[in-house]
Amino acid sequence: MDKDIVPGLLAAIDQYFIETNANSKELKRLVELQKSGKADYKEVNELAIEIGKNMSAALKKYVNAESLPDEKFYFNIANRLINKSLKTNFGIVTGYSSDVQKSLNEQANLHLKAQVPEFNQEKAKGLIEKLVHAETFDDVAWLLDEPIVTFTQSIVDDSIQKNIEFQSKAGLKPRITRTLVGKGCDWCRNLAGSYLYSEAPDEIYQRHERDRCIVNYHPGDGRKQDVWSKDWR
Ligand SMILES: [Zn+2]
Repeated sequence: MDKDIVPGLLAAIDQYFIETNANSKELKRLVELQKSGKADYKEVNELAIEIGKNMSAALKKYVNAESLPDEKFYFNIANRLINKSLKTNFGIVTGYSSDVQKSLNEQANLHLKAQVPEFNQEKAKGLIEKLVHAETFDDVAWLLDEPIVTFTQSIVDDSIQKNIEFQSKAGLKPRITRTLVGKGCDWCRNLAGSYLYSEAPDEIYQRHERDRCIVNYHPGDGRKQDVWSKDWR
């Protein structure tokens, strides 16, 4: 059996990723906004895009036809590389996201804990299977590009869903908005808008590749609504 190439690749990817993040002005800006209590899910989405791009760049730098045995992505290699990379992004995005949720809750005077979603293993598996089922690496190299960013953004969407469901169960009436960035495609234009949690379309938490729509919600809005409806009665 040949030498296991995965530990070496992972170490190189990790080092490059950490350096790129450390030099990112965008990440610095987003962390400062969060520390001063000015970040919401718009910033979480921006962080996910930046982290996703940096991880994609690190993967593309070290994983290529030459670095893989037989120029193929064997399951044993793809599974460990991709899972580890996506879980790293999951840790960073959910860390930032729970800090943001915590301060949004505090600003709305809600004594609720920030909720963290599960790592979406099914989605990760789907990506790994596509990588493994190609004849050669070059056929699937593009999967290390935008799909890594899309996966990372989906962590934000999962975080919103988890928190909004939790707050709804706590008796609040959270509103969720989905805003287009640029013109958007037909599917996105159709989804854009502001909804009560209970009336939001199921697809509101979904996105296609290169979909930069901003999904957002403020717990405070739900609280205000609750107060209004009581006053009304
Ligand atoms: Zn679209």
